[in-house]
Amino acid sequence: MLTQRIQAVQPSPTLRVTALAKQLKAEGKKVINLAAGEPDFDTPEAVKKAAIEAIQEGFTKYTPTTGIPELKNAIASTLLKERRLSYRPEQIAVTCGAKQALFNLLQVLVQAGEEVLIPSPYWVSYPEMVRLAGAAPVEVRTDPASGFQVERKALEKAWSSRAKVLILNSPSNPTGAVLKAEVLKDLARWAKERDLWVISDEIYSRLVYGCDCPSIASVSPEVFSRTVVVDGVSKAYAMTGWRIGYLAGPAEIVEAAGRLQDHSTSNPTSISQRAALAALTQDQAPVKKMAEEFQKRRDRMVERLSKIKKISFVKPDGAFYCFVDVSATGLNSGLFSERLLKEALVAVIPGGGFGWDSHVRLSFAVGLESIQEGLDRLERFIQGL
Ligand code: PMP
Ligand code: GLU
Repeated sequence: MLTQRIQAVQPSPTLRVTALAKQLKAEGKKVINLAAGEPDFDTPEAVKKAAIEAIQEGFTKYTPTTGIPELKNAIASTLLKERRLSYRPEQIAVTCGAKQALFNLLQVLVQAGEEVLIPSPYWVSYPEMVRLAGAAPVEVRTDPASGFQVERKALEKAWSSRAKVLILNSPSNPTGAVLKAEVLKDLARWAKERDLWVISDEIYSRLVYGCDCPSIASVSPEVFSRTVVVDGVSKAYAMTGWRIGYLAGPAEIVEAAGRLQDHSTSNPTSISQRAALAALTQDQAPVKKMAEEFQKRRDRMVERLSKIKKISFVKPDGAFYCFVDVSATGLNSGLFSERLLKEALVAVIPGGGFGWDSHVRLSFAVGLESIQEGLDRLERFIQGL
């Protein structure tokens, strides 16, 4: 009954475990949720107010499919100010979350017989989106010893003449690795040599701790013209439920992605667009405050993890995740996570879905007390194995 297309797709492990942890909590279980892929902060007040005003004004009808002009202008200003990237409004499309931006891009850029290079560990949805577009995902292993930086050597090994797109994600979900400027320069040269399109998922770019997070699109005009940047308000503004993301890139690709959106979701919610406009144009103090708090939590998690035996990890420079090697415990990621949840009531995401079954992902998008208690439990659990 079901198509081959959908039969080939796995459920999202991040969404599944996050929902399970929330459900157990709602049932009164004292679960520490280190699985969350979203900020625990509330959406800033000014953003909520803008949404309420939009409803009261009757701003509740269809908008242009790829977003209202005011929001596109605000996105263009943000990209210029924050990322040093210059786009015209027709080079920008607003989408229902960054997820839809990525999905639409893959639909318009690849097809059967073509390949997409994906550095691993990767965010769970990339390979599935590639398969849904009829193309084949090709894993490019990175190395914890070099801080999960994406290396030309590994890309060359994975490359074939069928490769059409390279997906980059810096800061990375699940490792928190931020690609260094010199690495990006080399990747930019390589993408040109191999005539590849680059999708640069920069959804965590505002959440970096004591380092710069350059965009590959800013490296040179050549790479700018073959890159589509994906971002959104979900993570930086604690707006995951509002579903506003965007893509920015060559006008021809953006127009095609918009055509696809015309026949699928139409515009992202009008009210959320007004909210996103407020998020981008308001005083940016709430973003700074959240990033500072995330940095404190990152430091606490790293300090505590480094005292636990039988595990290893690379200190994350961005996002809100620590990707922890648990292979020395003798358990694979699925079994480790399942037993940790059942026996110690701590939820983490198994690394298998990110392509690395030796690891689990811990989120520090929770308060300091939960980090402390969760890691105390994790340590006792590992000691008891
Ligand atoms: N890319 C990455 C790497 C993510 O972690 C997420 C989070 N779900 C997304 C894209 C999608 O973000 P959004 O919620 O805006 O769709
Ligand atoms: N991106 C988040 C995560 O990795 C949210 C869940 C999802 O959309 O996959 O947990």
